Amino acid sequence: MKKDDLVQLTIEDISSEGLGIGHVEKMAVFVKDTVIGDEIQAKIIKMKKTYAFGRLIQVLTPSPDRVKPVCPVSRQCGGCQIQAMDYQAQLKYKENKVKNNLMRIGGFSQELLGETMEPILGMEEPFHYRNKAQFPIGTDKDGRLVAGFYAGRTHSIVDYHSCALGTGVNETILELVLAHMQKHNISAYDETSGKGLVRHVMIRCGFATKQIMVCIVVNGKKLPFAEELAAELAKIPDMTSIVLNVNMEKTNVILGSEVQPLWGQDYIEDYIGNVKYRISPLSFYQVNPKQTEKLYGTALEYAALQGNETVWDLYCGIGTISLFLAQKAKKVCGVEVVPQAIEDAKKNAALNQFTNAEFYAGRAEDVLPEKYKKEGIQADVIVIDPPRKGCEQSVLDTMLQMAPERIVYVSCDSATLARDLKYLCENGYELRRWRATDMFPMTNHCECVCLLTRKA
Ligand code: SAH
Repeated sequence: MKKDDLVQLTIEDISSEGLGIGHVEKMAVFVKDTVIGDEIQAKIIKMKKTYAFGRLIQVLTPSPDRVKPVCPVSRQCGGCQIQAMDYQAQLKYKENKVKNNLMRIGGFSQELLGETMEPILGMEEPFHYRNKAQFPIGTDKDGRLVAGFYAGRTHSIVDYHSCALGTGVNETILELVLAHMQKHNISAYDETSGKGLVRHVMIRCGFATKQIMVCIVVNGKKLPFAEELAAELAKIPDMTSIVLNVNMEKTNVILGSEVQPLWGQDYIEDYIGNVKYRISPLSFYQVNPKQTEKLYGTALEYAALQGNETVWDLYCGIGTISLFLAQKAKKVCGVEVVPQAIEDAKKNAALNQFTNAEFYAGRAEDVLPEKYKKEGIQADVIVIDPPRKGCEQSVLDTMLQMAPERIVYVSCDSATLARDLKYLCENGYELRRWRATDMFPMTNHCECVCLLTRKA
């Protein structure tokens, strides 16, 4: 096999980046836009020593799970990887992916995983579920302003405003921003040169409250005629917060640390279950509120609180899980690295009249060991919800020293989850229950909650 060859293969699996995987002459070939079970013809576009990349030329025999994507730009856009897969098949695939990682990386037996698994929680309506969108703004080769999403693995922008995962109001907002830029000759940011002004438009909606936030990210301290744009945007029903975010770094991190209010409040509010949350532009907030309620419901169920427990919630964001747990615990302590999120968490506790929740700003790997050493903190239950890279060793070790009855691990990456569970289970814990939740339909991401208990 060599570059430019036309090959035939059957797709057997999907990679962690969402590419279909098949084999030709025992070599793995990765092909985008394919579904497990497809028989395809592909053109080899890149050869590596032990694997290759192909481009889909045609589907010879479609997989029984292949469906027509809803979105017209689903192939170009990097946002969705598996829109061409039937939704029920997506759920099966995700559940298997978690299970395989727990087996392969975590070393758990198929039998134990079968006994402890509860069925994946999917969505009834797997579109328009995102409460947040971040549109990059740029120019095309003719110098026209464009907004949309990055094409897969690149930073070129697919000019498309009505993403099938987002809300309808996104399109209206983007069009107003682009018209404003055109009218006043305001430039879009260019990543390669680091020049130009408008970088991103971030939009957030509280699904329960309907409140809308628009955050315009600029490579400068000001947006020309900002009041005029804000006045236009403010006419949109339920508009609550319009802010400017300053990001003058040459980085692909979207938001900078400075926020200037332009109109209305500098935050919006939303509910998950009965708990009300205040959300600032810089704070992490789950993007799929419907599924979040199910995810947190599972975490709460696994925590099995009776009312007299002390709970630590690590990587707590704006205290979302913490406050869910505070409804049932004696005391909850949250730890989070983003200081603005901790501000929100404290305000959220007050907003909901919780007096049993405390929050600490700092890295979990610093705060937890330090508090354990200096104050001898204890926990009956520890809940963790780390970013994709999972937990630092010192967090795991301190948790083992604190020896809570139960550990509830909420994870957005089943590979690091499996690695961390392996360590905890080699050191006194056992896996009792696990359940995947589909927070991101049409993408290859999957969330999972696990319950570990301390061996007697
Ligand atoms: N439990 C929250 C947030 C989960 S996302 C919720 O469900 O909304 C993971 C969070 O971990 C983010 O808020 C991120 O800012 C935070 N984080 C990342 N690295 C961290 C670290 N080393 N220590 C503490 N928090 C961290």
